[in-house]
Amino acid sequence: MKVDEQALIRAALAARNNAYAPYSGFRVGAALLAEDGTIYTGCNVECASFSATNCAERTALFKAVSEGRRSFRALAVVGGKEDWADAQPSPCGVCRQALYEFCQEDLLVLLARDEEHFTRCTLGQLLPLGFGPEKVR
Ligand SMILES: [Zn+2]
Repeated sequence: MKVDEQALIRAALAARNNAYAPYSGFRVGAALLAEDGTIYTGCNVECASFSATNCAERTALFKAVSEGRRSFRALAVVGGKEDWADAQPSPCGVCRQALYEFCQEDLLVLLARDEEHFTRCTLGQLLPLGFGPEKVR
């Protein structure tokens, strides 16, 4: 099954509309494609107690995992400040680690400004020599 990259980016852009980022103004959307074709979306949710903030990528991942999904094919991430014309989002270290728990190193990751302007990479490129479940089991 070929990944519809534009559809995944559109889903991330739509999710970004729900971002709750009153403190940073850094609004992010993410869309995670499960192996069965379902797209799980997420946005960042900030809290006045900043450490309770959750990123868009983990929101999407935890939604999917909470609904029983354990296998994923692709992730699109969009967002930034309001004047994000040149923004290219990138998952933070915590999100990279959380994704590594459930995704293969070849997970396709789209770091997108819009449906036409994006960079393709893999989770393995974002988290080389990652520490994952296989090291613990
Ligand atoms: Zn993050």
